[in-house]
Amino acid sequence: MTNLLKDLKQPAETSLNQELHKFAADLYPICRSITGNGIRETLSRIKGRIPLQIFEVPTGTQVFDWNVPKEWNIRDAYIAGPDGKRVVDFRECNLHVMNYSVPVHKTMPLSELKPHLFTIPEHPDWIPYRTSYYKEDWGFCLSHHQLMGLNDSEYEVCIDSTLQDGYLTYGECYLGGQSSDEVLISCHACHPSLANDNLSGLAVATFLAKYLSGKDLRYSYRFLFIPATIGAITWLARNRESAGRIRHGLVLTCIGDSGGFHYKKSRRGNAEVDRAAAHILRHSGESAEILEFSPYGYDERQYCSPGFNLPVGCLMRSVWGSFPEYHTSADNLDFIKPQQLAGSLLACAAILDVLENNRSYRNEFPYGEPQLGRRGLYGSIGGEACEDQILARLWVLNLSDGKHSLLDIAERSGILFSTISEAANLLCQKGLLSVVNNEHGEGAALGRSGTLPSQPGL
Ligand SMILES: [Zn+2]
Repeated sequence: MTNLLKDLKQPAETSLNQELHKFAADLYPICRSITGNGIRETLSRIKGRIPLQIFEVPTGTQVFDWNVPKEWNIRDAYIAGPDGKRVVDFRECNLHVMNYSVPVHKTMPLSELKPHLFTIPEHPDWIPYRTSYYKEDWGFCLSHHQLMGLNDSEYEVCIDSTLQDGYLTYGECYLGGQSSDEVLISCHACHPSLANDNLSGLAVATFLAKYLSGKDLRYSYRFLFIPATIGAITWLARNRESAGRIRHGLVLTCIGDSGGFHYKKSRRGNAEVDRAAAHILRHSGESAEILEFSPYGYDERQYCSPGFNLPVGCLMRSVWGSFPEYHTSADNLDFIKPQQLAGSLLACAAILDVLENNRSYRNEFPYGEPQLGRRGLYGSIGGEACEDQILARLWVLNLSDGKHSLLDIAERSGILFSTISEAANLLCQKGLLSVVNNEHGEGAALGRSGTLPSQPGL
């Protein structure tokens, strides 16, 4: 039985916090977009850490109701005053250019330039993040203070970008498990210098994939690093068969800030992953809120579209759009915290640990309670078990009638899943419990020890 929490909880892993943040910091300066060299460079750095297959889908490819857009790349952009000095400079911050701006190079008065300038008057030091993917346009984002500093003179405006036929790029990391049934972990990789919105998910997903690789896993895992919306739609259109093998899934976004956890349920509302996430967050010791599904948000919208209706929820800390730093230059490396990134990684591992170990068992001695003391399973004799562990054994024995899963038992008893799971393991070893088939037909060949057979596809 794989315990996904054991290694992560060891004190030696404290440097993990810093490593997660450092990886986000390494990716931060790259000017990403939904296509182009920024996302390629990002994927190649992720590939330096985990096995990643990179796919290139040509412009114009039809993906359901959409088409893969032209590829956008940018070298430089600026607004320069009459003295030639740059008053807005892409080299200082890539948010200064509206993402997907078409090339422009001309001189114009401020009155003509103004409709192309975007600021946030309520936060005059912050630069907004704007895109125009599906309408050809150009624009600059700047702080309101910068705008106030411009006068009525002529400005040289230059966006040295290209928008032409090319490719949409995404990455996939597949980790094979004993079953071909899959767990999907998806995050978007299309935002430029924004930390919580995109880099926190990228960092946690990369470290999670690294952590899981080499482990003996029940499920196979597929990590997607994709541009938001069009990337998820493209992946689904090209992988309808794989999509059918997804049993559980999580979209990771905005999971590095100091806010409490939020989990948005899948469209199904009562999928195993919804229950696993709710259980783990309730026991996380941090504030946590469970949100109902809505058809707005991140890529869970695509995975939960009615044609697929996959059991995919969305794990966040602060909810996108609800914090003022969202889609601004204030969503920077200070806004995400090493400890919160690591806490999010641990929460993901704990949710996956539930999915990996959730099974139904049968009590082999269902007539009256079996005598635990004789077997060293009752604290008053053994002395080693705390009250929770003994209670967990009693709950597992009582509800293991082949119909209740360990997650059912954890929910009903209020005891943490890992304690319930350990109890089931021990009771199996003592011959009091045996595994029964679960809903996917796995476990048919499982022995009393609860150890999984090595052949996949059972
Ligand atoms: Zn965003």
